[in-house]
Amino acid sequence: MNKKGHVLNAILLALGLGLILTVDPRNFQPTTDSAFALAENVAMLSLPVVLGALFPDVDTAFGKHRKTLHNLPVLAIFLAFPLIFGNLQYVWIGVATHYVLDMVGSKRGIALFYPLSPQEYDLPTGVATSSKYADIVTVVVTVAELAVLAGIHYYLFSLDTSLSSATTALGALMI
Ligand SMILES: [Zn+2]
Repeated sequence: MNKKGHVLNAILLALGLGLILTVDPRNFQPTTDSAFALAENVAMLSLPVVLGALFPDVDTAFGKHRKTLHNLPVLAIFLAFPLIFGNLQYVWIGVATHYVLDMVGSKRGIALFYPLSPQEYDLPTGVATSSKYADIVTVVVTVAELAVLAGIHYYLFSLDTSLSSATTALGALMI
C-alpha cells in the first residue's frame, strides 16, 4: 500500500478505536463528558498510530523494502519500547496495522520473519497499490480491523485497560 493508504488506514483506525473505547452502544448516554473522553482518546491515539503506520516504509530508502522494517522483530522492538523507556506507547498499533494492510490489501506480501527468512507472506485478497480500488480496499480492511477490535472490546475483554497492558504483556513476551 502507498503512503496515502497507510495514513488513511491509521487515521480511520485511531478514530474508530477512540470511539470503541469511549462508547458502549449497549448503554450509551451522550454527555459532555463522553464527548471530551472521545476527543481525548482520539487525540491520544491518532498521532502515535499515524507515525507507526508511516515507519515501516522507511525501508524503501534504508534496507530492503517489505523486509527490513516489515517483520515481527521490528514490531517486538516497538512493543518493548514503552516497557524499557516508558515512551512510544501506541506506536506499535500503527506498525501492526501497516503490516495487516500490506498483507491483506496489496499484491506483494511482507517478510514477517526477516532477517531469519526472506520469504514474503501475503493473502490473495490484495489489489495493486496503483489500482483505483486501493482506497476502497484500505477502508474495507480498516472496517474489518475495527469490527474485530469492537468484538473483542464488547464481548471478550475491555481494550482500554488492555491496550496499555497489551503493550506491557506482549512486550514482556517478546523480549
Ligand atoms: Zn509497507
